[in-house]
Amino acid sequence: SAKAAGTNQWAFFKQQMTERAAVRLRTEASLHDAFKNNEFLLHFQPKFNIKTGEVVACEALIRWKKEERLISPMAFIPIAEETGIIIPIGRWVIEEACKTLKHWQRRYNVALPIAVNVASQQFADPSLVPDIKQLALRYQIEPHLLEFEITETSLMNDIELAINKLEQLKSAGFSIAVDDFGIGYSSLSYLKHLPITTMKIDRCFVNDLPHESPIASTILMLGQQLNLHIVAEGIENEAQLNWLKQMDCEIGQGFYYSQPLPLDEFEAKYIAPNTATISQI
Ligand code: C2E
Ligand code: MG
Ligand code: MG
Ligand code: MG
Repeated sequence: SAKAAGTNQWAFFKQQMTERAAVRLRTEASLHDAFKNNEFLLHFQPKFNIKTGEVVACEALIRWKKEERLISPMAFIPIAEETGIIIPIGRWVIEEACKTLKHWQRRYNVALPIAVNVASQQFADPSLVPDIKQLALRYQIEPHLLEFEITETSLMNDIELAINKLEQLKSAGFSIAVDDFGIGYSSLSYLKHLPITTMKIDRCFVNDLPHESPIASTILMLGQQLNLHIVAEGIENEAQLNWLKQMDCEIGQGFYYSQPLPLDEFEAKYIAPNTATISQI
């Protein structure tokens, strides 16, 4: 009967919810352990000047090493955000980036900017800006070497708050990128009030290139008009790269250039060979 079917569906739904909640609880508990046991690490993906082919910066991307498996941030960052543990994890990422900058400077005399992703909840946290300043001071990091990637959606959550926070970061000398630009719901009129330095075109628009290009070209023009640095993310092939080059897109990042790499591989490939040549970007 319809009623029995409804009851069954409800039972199925309830069971699914229970399973999902259980997975969440397990992940939540193991995130706490993971943090305590130092199971996180950063991979680094280079960003290139499209015209010259030089490495100009990199992005730090978190990984969770769980029993010899590497877990993608997509599988745990949303849960870390829901539970609030993103705050200490995010702080750890910033500190790790500072340590890495210091290490590159001391060991190789290289100053290559590192971009760090900031989650929505982390961006809303009042201790973010003081924490960043304190870490930069402690590790004696030139602020322009640290860039914060904040998604368009986080910025638009509370525009007044975002402007205020970005002003503080910018006046302290840090760089700010809007990440995943184009998939959020940016209010274009506010964009010019946001003290940002860089715009990252979301991978999905780069993916459509070179055949479907209206959105990528519109974002490029917008960024150029606003005098921003523009990064195209997710470049996977030569045709996409050539289109971007032709359109004077400044910076590129993607598997076509390089996957995100563990620190030692990144260093061997992009830092050690450039000893004392990259500095003063
Ligand atoms: P995102 O900041 O937009 O980072 C770019 C993502 O695209 C990375 O995935 C990178 O590996 C991937 N990618 C780069 N080039 C290509 C390409 O050519 N093709 C394709 N298909 N993918 C490419 P990843 O490392 O899995 O990170 C996913 C997302 O997780 C990031 O997106 C960011 O939102 C978040 N995330 C990563 N690390 C952190 C972190 O330390 N803190 C926070 N809050 N979020 C992080
Ligand atoms: Mg990013
Ligand atoms: Mg992105
Ligand atoms: Mg993304």
